[in-house]
Amino acid sequence: MSEVSLVRCDTYETGVLEAAVRKAVDLMGGMSRFVKPGDRVLIKPNLLSAKAPEKRITTDPSVVRAVTRMVLEAGGKPLIGDSPALEPFRRVAKKCGIAEVAEDLGVELAPLTRPTPVYLPEGAAFRHLEIAAQALDADVVINLPKLKTHCQMLFTLGVKNLFGTIVAQRKAEWHHMAGVDRDTFASLLLDIYLAVGPALTILDGVWAMEGNGPANGSPRRMDLIAAATDAIALDMSICTMLDVPLRSFPLYRVARDRRVGETDPGRIDFKGDSIETFAVPDFEVPALDSMGFLPARFDWFTKRYLVSKPVQEREACKGCGQCGEICPADAIRMEDRKIAFDYHRCIRCYCCQEVCPEDAILFRKGLLVKMLNWVHR
Ligand code: SF4
Ligand code: SF4
Repeated sequence: MSEVSLVRCDTYETGVLEAAVRKAVDLMGGMSRFVKPGDRVLIKPNLLSAKAPEKRITTDPSVVRAVTRMVLEAGGKPLIGDSPALEPFRRVAKKCGIAEVAEDLGVELAPLTRPTPVYLPEGAAFRHLEIAAQALDADVVINLPKLKTHCQMLFTLGVKNLFGTIVAQRKAEWHHMAGVDRDTFASLLLDIYLAVGPALTILDGVWAMEGNGPANGSPRRMDLIAAATDAIALDMSICTMLDVPLRSFPLYRVARDRRVGETDPGRIDFKGDSIETFAVPDFEVPALDSMGFLPARFDWFTKRYLVSKPVQEREACKGCGQCGEICPADAIRMEDRKIAFDYHRCIRCYCCQEVCPEDAILFRKGLLVKMLNWVHR
């Protein structure tokens, strides 16, 4: 039976936060269960972009600090690393407060580099993957996701956080290969999770992000630190906590069908504070529309008329070009700060919206989402 620990914590103040993280890990057997003296330990926070911790886009530095201290106490040799898609790692780490943690504790801080092939078994989304060597070479990986919504995948939690072990802009290539089908992308995420095999996932949900996540949503207090060895069980726990139907979460559908991890919240052994006490009944999650409900030959029709599409907010755009750089489908052209989207090429991956520093890309709701909203009113 998978175990998930839930600990209430209402502040990032160092002493209080550290006590909560220790409690969550102790409920899972303590750090020495996972880290042995001399182990090389990759600590993988969410470092999506160079934003201050108060934006709640990245894992809070106090969580990274607490976990790094515990790894050092257990005799491990920590490396704090991630691979932001566009911005230089060191700039992101500095702005997010992680560089200061590494300096204070005298530990290595490094971008994840050197894409290394990993061959996958039957049933995987692809025959092989390319994952950063540092993630594969580590004796232990500790995964530190942020609790956030995600416009393409509903949430980015324990499993999705490991997409950061795909090196920099290669993320866009894998997005493109997964195409328009969310379940194929969820299956890819599952394969990355299995290949990296984190020993422990510790979720920063003290402040979460709701709405237009993972970069342009609104901060929302959840007062939660959670830990699990099975990140799938942890991700399902968050859906349950927020009263989100599991079938609407692409990762649930794929993990259940492939029988990976615990997808049944009724079979999870919860430790610590009661899950009911973390309920946020009005937590805002994005409405997802599906590309895959009609045969592929109708893609042009579903794309044009039914599913949401990216549009530019011209007044907000500063013309930085990052959206065009990240677009895996080469579907963005820019002239005089006016973006032309090629909606035939666009795979609705939401990467352009995710990287836009000005919140200048919106997704205009498709007919499907409008109908869903109408049904739920
Ligand atoms: S235009 Fe935006 S949503 Fe469409 S493929 Fe490019 S990055 Fe993805
Ligand atoms: S839409 Fe956003 S990412 Fe694209 S050019 Fe404008 S400001 Fe930059």
